[in-house]
Order: sequence, then C-alpha cells, then structure tokens
Amino acid sequence: MLILQSPQILHQKVSQWKPTQKVFFVPTMGCLHAGHRALIERAKQEGGKVLVSIFVNPLQFGPSEDFDRYPRPFEEDVKLLESLDVDCLFAPRTVDLYPDGFATNVSVKGLAEHLCGKSRPGHFDGVATVCLKLFQITQADGAIFGEKDYQQLRILEKMVEDLNLGVHIMPHPTVREEDGLALSSRNRYLSPEDRKKAVLFPQALCAARERALLDPSVTVGDLLRQALTSWNQAFPVDYLEIAPSDTLTPASPDARIRDLRNPRVFGAIKLGSTRLIDNLALHLVEGR
Ligand code: AMP
Repeated sequence: MLILQSPQILHQKVSQWKPTQKVFFVPTMGCLHAGHRALIERAKQEGGKVLVSIFVNPLQFGPSEDFDRYPRPFEEDVKLLESLDVDCLFAPRTVDLYPDGFATNVSVKGLAEHLCGKSRPGHFDGVATVCLKLFQITQADGAIFGEKDYQQLRILEKMVEDLNLGVHIMPHPTVREEDGLALSSRNRYLSPEDRKKAVLFPQALCAARERALLDPSVTVGDLLRQALTSWNQAFPVDYLEIAPSDTLTPASPDARIRDLRNPRVFGAIKLGSTRLIDNLALHLVEGR
C-alpha cells in the first residue's frame, strides 16, 4: 500500500491511474473500526482503485472539543488498511492541507443550521472545506460516507450538487455493535458504566421507529417524549429531533409522522465527556 503525505504527489499518482481506472475514496479521521471497514469494502466492490485518507481535521473541532485527545493509533490503522488491500493511504499533516495563510471557508447554508450544526457552530464549514479539498486532490469518482453522520452526508451531497463537483457521494448504512450502539472512534472513551447506559440511546431510536411504522398518525411530540422517558435522565441530551431526510429541518411536536417526507429521528447525547450521535429512518424504505 502506498502511503502519501503530499497532496501534490497524490494528485500526480491519481492522474496516472485515471485514464484507465476509477478512484473510490473513503475519507476518515483514523482510529478505524468495523464501520470504516464496511465503507472500504463497499469501495472495493466498485473494482477501481481504493484510496483512504486519515486526517484529523482541526477546522471541524470547536475550541472546547476533543481535537487534541482524538485517538490516533496510526500504526494499527495502517495494518488494517494493508489487510484490506487498500491501494493508497493519504495521511497529510495539518500544514500539508492548511499552509500558512490558508483563508477559504466553504459553508453550506440551511442544512448545516439544524441538529449538530446548532450545537457545534462552524463544524460543518470545517467538514465541507476539508472534503472539497480532498475531492480536488483525489479526483475521486466516488466517495463513500456513513449514514451514521447523516447530516454530514446530506451537506456533502448538497455541496457536490451546488458546486458541480464530479464526485458521486455513496451513502453506506450505519454499522452497529451487537447491542445496537453505532460504532464510533469515540466509543473507546466510554467508561464501563457509560457503555452500559449507551445502549439506551439506539434502543429508544428503534422503539420510535417501531411505533412510527405501526402507527404513522403518531405525533412527533409523542415519539420524542417516549424516547426521553425511556432514558429517564440517564444522560444529558444535546438534542433529539425528528426531521424529513431531505431538509433536516426539525418537525414541530404536533406534526404527524405520516405527513413528513421520509422522516428520521436524530439525536446527540453526552456520556461523561463523550458526545455520541445517532439517527434512524422512521419510514419503511431506506433512502431519501
Ligand atoms: P470518521 O473517521 O468518524 O470521520 O468517519 C469517517 C467515515 O466513516 C464517515 O463517512 C462516517 O460517517 C463513517 N462512519 C463512522 N462510523 C460509522 C458507522 N458506525 N457506520 C457506518 N459508517 C461510519
């Protein structure tokens, strides 16, 4: 596996591949787990070159967030990528992507204002800015993103559409632990007690899905109340909302599920100092 740090050298390498082969790209922040592996395996199914990036992007972390303590087990990640037969790992340093004087900010309005955008101001600008750079450098034909970060996925789809980028955004379903907890690099921070409590999070989202499928006339308020009651204040809730999959604008409590287009439930909770997010479709057919 080729390991490259320099955007220029990566760009040259990809240019050599491009006349005959398509490039499928999986951007990550490292500390790879089975969720990342599923995205890489999805990329491999396409039959082209598979490129993975590891970059903990400072632009998407707020001043009081966990940029410094974000786990960076680089050697382990390299071993995993080698075992998956990835063609190239792009692992730039911060200065390789943001040299002195870097001054551009990409902002996707509307979609970035709700849910995580509200509690993490500037986060999605950081995500959009780094992804636009990565798409330019890698010249990827397809980029695979997890539905675990559904808002991120929608924002990047919108950016690609608005800016006529050549990359095709390919969503992949959330990969979960056996008990339902969505895999995340941050799960390793959870204490054993918090890990036990964490399972209540996806359980409540599943219960909301079951009730919504059984009784589409149920109101958003009733579904959200049911989830909050089941948590019984086991952890602080950053937000819990139901929103149509396309706009991500939270629905009002008296809206009925059947009147929303492809509704999803979205939540963020805090366990100790760890923030977990998750989401689930409340409609039968996955998709938007
Ligand atoms: P991250 O390294 O957390 O920035 O994630 C890199 C990519 O992996 C993003 O597209 C995430 O949505 C995706 N991802 C992270 N966790 C999961 C998961 N449990 N299931 C599916 N995709 C995931």
